[in-house]
Amino acid sequence: MRIIFSLRSIIVAASLAFALVQALPTSAQDAQPNPPPPTLILQSASARQGDPVFAECIAAEPISDPVFELRSQRGSILARGKVFALPASVPGTRWGIVAGLSWDVVAGPAEAELRGQEGSRPFAVSVALSVEARQFASDTIPLDAANTALHALPDPKKVAEALAIQAIYARVDPAALWASLPFVAPVGDARRSAGFGDKRRYLYAGGGTDSSQHSGIDFAVPVGTPVHAPAAGRVVFYGMRIVTGNTMVIEHAPGLYSVLMHLSQGIAPEGSLVKAGDVVALSGVTGFATGPHLHWEVRAGDLPVDPDFFLAPQVKPFPWLDTPTSAGR
Ligand SMILES: [Zn+2]
Repeated sequence: MRIIFSLRSIIVAASLAFALVQALPTSAQDAQPNPPPPTLILQSASARQGDPVFAECIAAEPISDPVFELRSQRGSILARGKVFALPASVPGTRWGIVAGLSWDVVAGPAEAELRGQEGSRPFAVSVALSVEARQFASDTIPLDAANTALHALPDPKKVAEALAIQAIYARVDPAALWASLPFVAPVGDARRSAGFGDKRRYLYAGGGTDSSQHSGIDFAVPVGTPVHAPAAGRVVFYGMRIVTGNTMVIEHAPGLYSVLMHLSQGIAPEGSLVKAGDVVALSGVTGFATGPHLHWEVRAGDLPVDPDFFLAPQVKPFPWLDTPTSAGR
């Protein structure tokens, strides 16, 4: 009897095991095949030192926690990008990316990588990017006593202002799909007194020197010259700062900003939406300035990038940067 019971147990156990083995391939057949990995599209396969980098990502399933990095062949991080969700029929399946290359980034073969979670699976996709070297002009600028003090003296208020404006540049508003390319120069074809990336050596009044690189384009225009919005956007800051004088920041696209400095007067109020070409301010000579001029800077991915990139007619933008109406606005 005991033996029979044991045999029965074995038969039951064997039947269960057989059922399980049969069930395994069936459940594997029922499972959804893995979706293809997300597609990462760079606007251009090459970028110069000081250029912005734009990309778009399209995924079959919603993505979460996306991180975008540009890395050299040796693996060092050249830049981090801002990643934001774009309008899509399935939310989370379409993303825009804005990054900036610094003017001294290592030139050579590089790689753009986007990683994160697609559904419940981690993913990483990468695309080759060639970083091209470029030359920047050099300039020596003597400073009077007032500008020497502005430039050289430590001042906690300057530090606080720098942190406050960095916090603005660090923001990403996914809804800020305003701009189209190319931009328009804010004071037309006015004479330029300094270029992007110019290497500057300052001669202090009373001796001493300092050096820096110029983060925008300077236009030599008289005080009171109308300043036009380089592209559509929202005025996210207007105020007086010690170094940059009366300053206006316009967000053109998520994480992409124009900064207009040394103004005599702001016209478009903070928070307002402006169109490309609108008169938003009057130029001036406020802050650290050796003469009346407009400083126009473009920031992408927290870094100043070459404003001329945005004036070039050959720029091929993505739809989200091309037509504001494509986002339903
Ligand atoms: Zn300047």
